[in-house]
Amino acid sequence: MDLDNIECVSITDGLDEDEIHTSTRHHHHPFQPKPHNNNNNNNTNTLNGLPPATSVHELLECPVCTNSMYPPIHQCHNGHTLCSTCKTRVHNRCPTCRQELGDIRCLALEKVAESLELPCKYYSLGCPEIFPYYSKLKHESQCNFRPYNCPYAGSECAVVGDISFLVAHLRDDHKVDMHTGCTFNHRYVKSNPREVENATWMLTVFHCFGQYFCLHFEAFQLGMAPVYMAFLRFMGDENEARNYSYSLEVGANGRKLTWEGTPRSIRDSHRKVRDSHDGLIIQRNMALFFSGGDRKELKLRVTGRIWKEQQNSEAGVCIPNLCS
Ligand SMILES: [Zn+2]
Ligand SMILES: [Zn+2]
Ligand SMILES: [Zn+2]
Ligand SMILES: [Zn+2]
Repeated sequence: MDLDNIECVSITDGLDEDEIHTSTRHHHHPFQPKPHNNNNNNNTNTLNGLPPATSVHELLECPVCTNSMYPPIHQCHNGHTLCSTCKTRVHNRCPTCRQELGDIRCLALEKVAESLELPCKYYSLGCPEIFPYYSKLKHESQCNFRPYNCPYAGSECAVVGDISFLVAHLRDDHKVDMHTGCTFNHRYVKSNPREVENATWMLTVFHCFGQYFCLHFEAFQLGMAPVYMAFLRFMGDENEARNYSYSLEVGANGRKLTWEGTPRSIRDSHRKVRDSHDGLIIQRNMALFFSGGDRKELKLRVTGRIWKEQQNSEAGVCIPNLCS
């Protein structure tokens, strides 16, 4: 990491004031738990709207690794159950009674699992969905209510949480610069532009339209050539990111490079976005040219703007004249 000799200067131009305040659109906070309401759900496998009994859950928990069991579920001659992963590890001995394990499927338990419907594990984070036992895992890996990973690049930060939690985490734990407004004017200064390491990067968080955006700026090696790259990520899901666009501009001496794009969701890792080159890429020669002077110092002025795309009633239910 090479933060000390990158300086980030932000110039507030006061142009953003209006746009910040006109966009207080209603945004359902995905991490506010909603009151439990099972009335709309199909409760065929729950009793009187109550969640399935814990004991069934426990039956489906592998006694060895405590993970949920999925077919094939195995059992010993005495009826002790075991998941298929653990079965391969126990050398044909039941871990519970030490008897020979054999090769017996527990079809009854598999059938019970099949008949179960369980709430998504992010239920407490607001997900109202209920799934058949076997499709629950797949949903949970893509659930919109699942927590986000910390968007900070350059370290293996394991922190997860909702957006407001991560914003506070970036500010307090990673000391990330926070800005309000949808236009920016940043100067990236690096004293030794010859040194381009993969880990040279910079993150700034912008707050506008009631949302948070991560502006990344970094140097990395693209093939044989060192390049600089700037891109924006949206702190939220991809379907919401699509409502926004951004532009970046860098230049000097009568030349400029511009980039216009849609911010990527922070569900896409920093590295994934970078490796897809989805942003403004500046070749080092051009960067040094833009820096002016003796090419001993990198001095890039990156300006940009974030805007909200017109909502063109995708659902097709909104007829302009009838909607106020
Ligand atoms: Zn197991
Ligand atoms: Zn046994
Ligand atoms: Zn869910
Ligand atoms: Zn972090």
